[in-house]
Amino acid sequence: MRATNQSKCVIRHKADECIGCCLCAETIPDYFEMNQDGLAVLKGGLSEHGFFRANALSLDREEILQAVEGCPVDIIRLSDS
Ligand code: SF4
Repeated sequence: MRATNQSKCVIRHKADECIGCCLCAETIPDYFEMNQDGLAVLKGGLSEHGFFRANALSLDREEILQAVEGCPVDIIRLSDS
C-alpha cells in the first residue's frame, strides 16, 4: 500500500538520557514538551524496552527528522512501525 500524508510513523525517545536542550520541543511541539525538571517528554508516549513510543503523522516526517538529527545526544528515533 502506498504511503499517504495521512499514514502513520512512530517516534521513539530514550527519555532517561535527555540533557534538556529543548530542541525537540521547539522543533516539533506537537510531539514533545519539557517537563518541570527541564527534560523532554514525548507526548502520549508509552514505555517500551527503555524507550517511550508514540505514533506520529507521516505528514510531519520532515520536521520530526530535524529533531532526530538535531538531538545532541541522539536519543530520538523515527521509523515506519
Ligand atoms: S533534543 Fe534530545 S537532548 Fe534535547 S531536549 Fe530533546 S530529547 Fe532532550
